[in-house]
Amino acid sequence: MANQNPFEVAQRQLDECAKVLKLDANVHAILRVPMRELHLSLPVRMDDGTIRVFQGFRVQYNDARGPTKGGIRFHPDETIDTVRALAAWMTWKCALLDLPLGGAKGGVICNPKEMSQGELERLSRAYMQSVWQFIGPDKDIPAPDVYTNPQVMAWMMDEYSKITGKNQFGAITGKPLSLGGSAGRGDATARGGLYTVREAVKVCSIDLKEATLAVQGYGNAGYYGAYLAKSLFGCKIVAISDSKGGIFSKEGLEPEAVREHKAQTGSVINFPNTKAISNEEILELEVDILIPAALENVITEKNAPNIKAKIIAELANGPTTPEADNIIYKNNIHVIPDFLCNAGGVTVSYFEMVQNFYMYYWDEKEVRQKLDKKMTTAYHSVLDISKKYNINMRQAAYVVAVQRVVKAMKLRGWVS
Ligand code: NAD
Repeated sequence: MANQNPFEVAQRQLDECAKVLKLDANVHAILRVPMRELHLSLPVRMDDGTIRVFQGFRVQYNDARGPTKGGIRFHPDETIDTVRALAAWMTWKCALLDLPLGGAKGGVICNPKEMSQGELERLSRAYMQSVWQFIGPDKDIPAPDVYTNPQVMAWMMDEYSKITGKNQFGAITGKPLSLGGSAGRGDATARGGLYTVREAVKVCSIDLKEATLAVQGYGNAGYYGAYLAKSLFGCKIVAISDSKGGIFSKEGLEPEAVREHKAQTGSVINFPNTKAISNEEILELEVDILIPAALENVITEKNAPNIKAKIIAELANGPTTPEADNIIYKNNIHVIPDFLCNAGGVTVSYFEMVQNFYMYYWDEKEVRQKLDKKMTTAYHSVLDISKKYNINMRQAAYVVAVQRVVKAMKLRGWVS
């Protein structure tokens, strides 16, 4: 899927923004590269007694606005450039949501689907043993991402606490609720994205109750995206896919039943009374709202001219290439760019840190209200800038975010 280097894509997006902002060349040079990256060799004893050495990464992109923050992926196709790109996007995302945090990302090249729980636990602990000196509540705070989950975060938090000799709940977010997790973290990414969709339909004059929706990817972001779109707004989910393929139903799908089917069979495919569609076809369906919620580089110059959705809500990170962006903008499709649309996860992760420091926990209602306010404010700040400069929504999101990071760098005296 990743036919373009995601980090080059991230750098090109920044370069576009630098032009709009007439960014100083020195500032631009600093922002084009990560401030620190760790390359890890992680020896793990497998269940058969052999030792396998996994390759891992942690990239801390920019900490001008505060400690860096970003998820850890366990994925067979992980590359350092994907992690670099995701760390850059985390920097812009935290700035856009006005969180007092910088951006980071981590990853391990592994296939968790082929590993036992014991092997996953030993890998999670090995990762923490390797990075602990460079992370912590006031340095860098990891969280879950593709193929990592609250259990992985619990193991990592436990390992960090053991090494440092004290309970350090605030060192990791996305933890289980009974271990310092935040209410509302589970569906926060999708919920936050849907708050921005709720605002976007007003701009596009779409009635959400009548809206049709297709979702690519059916993990945390995709499932909750479909489930909440239907349960909160009454949208009709006509298509869903995962790594094995997709399903289509004109009458609409029940997101929970599809999830149940995936849990039992390992995939959404072959769900009763649906038509099989490919992961390419799902992107070109005649729907009101398209939600890419899998991996990067799925909307390219090749398929962008065929996209018929009125709104693309990017729950995935980096689903659209810069070439595709230009085509989509010309075709008047309203894009809610990734680091705005999927910022709900890091926003509630930030709330989780705040609650960990307070040792006092909010209920779900309070978390959702605070999330709604953050997402709605960020969406409108991007929309206003896109109108003011006559630029697309992604460029506008960059302008808002980069300006904030640059301001912090100037105030700290890093640049003049
Ligand atoms: P996940 O591991 O829970 O689910 C990933 C889903 O994508 C699975 O259903 C998988 O089958 C599917 N998938 C994998 N390869 C695919 C392919 N080639 N074609 C179609 N589907 C494919 O991961 P997630 O947490 O839902 O993350 C999905 C995207 O959302 C990623 O880009 C991630 O960076 C982004 N994101 C997630 C969060 C979060 O809080 N979970 C926050 C911000 C951004």
